[in-house]
Amino acid sequence: MNHAPSDEEMRALLASRPAIAIVGASSRPDRPSHGVMNVLLDAGYDVTPVNPNESVVLGRTAYPDLRALPTPIDLVDVFRRPEHVPGIARQAVAVGARALWTQLGVISEEGARIAREGGLFVVMNHCTAIEHERLIGRAFPSPSDAVGLCETCRHARLVQTPRSRFWMCERAATDASFDKYPRLPRLACRGFEPKS
Ligand code: SF4
Repeated sequence: MNHAPSDEEMRALLASRPAIAIVGASSRPDRPSHGVMNVLLDAGYDVTPVNPNESVVLGRTAYPDLRALPTPIDLVDVFRRPEHVPGIARQAVAVGARALWTQLGVISEEGARIAREGGLFVVMNHCTAIEHERLIGRAFPSPSDAVGLCETCRHARLVQTPRSRFWMCERAATDASFDKYPRLPRLACRGFEPKS
């Protein structure tokens, strides 16, 4: 039986800032995959285009298929017709991805089954860009922005060292589901409560 992902599950996946491979990414600005890739790059995700007919998309080197990717990816975002999804799901399992995600209008029960049996989290018929905006709501901090993830949360404690400063989550002391040194984007944490 299918399991429709909850908002909480999708938020957790996106908040983990997965490395994303966009299968079917196009260099043509009029294509939805191009616009979505642009949004995801602006949001701070590491995005790699996968398309045998492209060499570069939005400044990123394109690869012909998932097996050709030089680095591990977490989330496979599919902009292909449904009949291609089972084969992409097999590749996603083979390369050790954590999630298979198909865009609006792309539904393949067989692809979903293959991915789930391979241990992947599956989201179908949703747009990554729309869900990022809805569930995360802002760009991830740049790698140099180690401070400020929890800056305005009342559970955050500022730790100052001679060389840097960062925020520690005090909820982590009593609840293991909170990272001691969070890496979530601002306000993405379910435990966020503003300072009074
Ligand atoms: S509860 Fe969330 S936002 Fe608040 S300090 Fe902890 S990790 Fe940061």
